[in-house]
Amino acid sequence: MDDTTDATPTNFIREIIDEDNGTGKYEGRVVTRFPPEPNGYLHIGHAKSICLNAGIAESYGGTFHLRFDDTNPEKEEDEYVASIKEDVRWLGVDWGEHLYYASNYFDEMAADAEALIAKGKAYVCSLSTEAFKDYRGVPTRPGRESPSRDTTPERNLDLFRRMRAGEFEDGAYVVRAKIDMASPNLHMRDPAIYRIKKATHHNTGDTWCIYPMYDFAHCIEDSIERVTHSICTLEFEVHRPLYDWILEELETYRPQQIEFARLNLTYTVMSKRKVQVLVENGIVDGWDDPRLPTIAGLRRRGFPAEAIREFCRRIGVTKVASLTDMALLEHCVRGELNLRAPRILGVLNPLKLIIDNYPEDEEETFEAVNNPEDESAGKRPLSFCRELYIERTDFMEDPPRKFHRLAIGREVRLRYACLVTCTEVVKDENGEITEVHCTWDPESRGGAAPDGRKVRGTIHWASARHALKVETRLYDRLFTVENPDEGEEGKTFLDHVNPASRETVTAYVEPSLAEGAAGDHYQLERLGYFTLDPDSSAGDPVLNRTLPLRDSWSKMQKGGQR
Ligand code: ATP
Ligand code: MG
Repeated sequence: MDDTTDATPTNFIREIIDEDNGTGKYEGRVVTRFPPEPNGYLHIGHAKSICLNAGIAESYGGTFHLRFDDTNPEKEEDEYVASIKEDVRWLGVDWGEHLYYASNYFDEMAADAEALIAKGKAYVCSLSTEAFKDYRGVPTRPGRESPSRDTTPERNLDLFRRMRAGEFEDGAYVVRAKIDMASPNLHMRDPAIYRIKKATHHNTGDTWCIYPMYDFAHCIEDSIERVTHSICTLEFEVHRPLYDWILEELETYRPQQIEFARLNLTYTVMSKRKVQVLVENGIVDGWDDPRLPTIAGLRRRGFPAEAIREFCRRIGVTKVASLTDMALLEHCVRGELNLRAPRILGVLNPLKLIIDNYPEDEEETFEAVNNPEDESAGKRPLSFCRELYIERTDFMEDPPRKFHRLAIGREVRLRYACLVTCTEVVKDENGEITEVHCTWDPESRGGAAPDGRKVRGTIHWASARHALKVETRLYDRLFTVENPDEGEEGKTFLDHVNPASRETVTAYVEPSLAEGAAGDHYQLERLGYFTLDPDSSAGDPVLNRTLPLRDSWSKMQKGGQR
């Protein structure tokens, strides 16, 4: 990933690193890491963290680690490990040889726990979970000490080894750091650092029946890997004293933990736990559903990695929690796709148009520009014949004056093809229009008016004889409110799901679409950006609408033919 351009804004984290490099705190080394727990797919918030950490390592000539924080035996699954690797790679980040698993450090972590016990800085406690919480108390008053707090290192070492040997059931004992039961920071009130859990681990199998708690494990992982700057989200700020305490008591190398504000986006939910609820309840089709803010979902929807990285660059890094407008991400996506998506013509909501003065068995081709933003993309032939489809909304029987598209007696330009004038319509028994009849001006081949007469509207079309019928999925926001997380009384995010977040239609699209591969992007002129879905099969493409085009009407009407 080479995103460190001159445009990369500095931020408070880079300032800290500059200062550390100035004082030689880490001998000028910069080592960052991204430490996902493999209990779900990554989302755009994780992308912020990945871009931040990998971007910093890159621009300081440092090292970036991908580390699976897999200390919790029940939740992790190999599927998630695979998807996380795929997503990080897709974002354009290369961890090289620096792929790590926290579970590979279990031996060292257990030895560290023994070391703390041996020096009287940790003890084995038999309080139940409820009693533990009760003894811990509230921030404004000191908590109560566990009856085991002042037991001897010998007793505690013996119990810890027996915990490890599997002699006790889940919950019978925990190991606690002996810190300060009167600290206003509850995390410092003798927190649990090891627990019994008789569960099979995806990496270590049944080797262990005791597992380290997150706070104990995380700082040791960072220390073992000689991370310099351990960058995490704000909620860990109150855990930092514990992070520092553990490494100090272990008399070992200590990275600097730095916190930043997590990304929150409007009209969606971000936490893996909530996404999991959506997946499990069938509200979406899976972790890669194009309506989700997961990396896999965004990719399938057609959001390019470059656009996600640009978005992460633009939002920057701060210490203030905020809600970022989804429109900013969409803006980055449109900007990127505008540059690279080839244009094609297609119709989403078809209405048959018949050119009565065009011979039935004739056809011809016109020339169309593949990408006005990129001359090297060249041109392509567009097949044309007597029967076409136009967008149903491009015809009005009773149009207002400002309507510059097709109506009886009015003339429009068919993009790249010619000028047609509507003569009459045919309706079915319900009064719905089934055919629009036109005559064309053969002198207008290519779309220019032969006598310079003014034709204001230009509409897109598809040749009925040549077009491909394509299953097309149109997406809207998954939630109807800006912040579905912000619970109104008695409501959860599930109460704000948009029931119309996906609509499937059959579009008529240029036949060249059949040659595309899953992930290929297109702009259907005037309709938006579309991306081929992995559900596509040979000759049978499936399209996702990535995003509608914005302002296409205003431009089209002002500029006539573009
Ligand atoms: P979630 O709450 O969505 O389940 P998490 O924090 O539990 O996410 P982890 O796998 O523990 O997910 O996170 C890996 C890293 O990604 C952590 O360093 C975490 O701080 C960071 N991260 C998670 N969510 C965001 C976010 N919304 N914005 C920025 N960074 C995030
Ligand atoms: Mg987590």
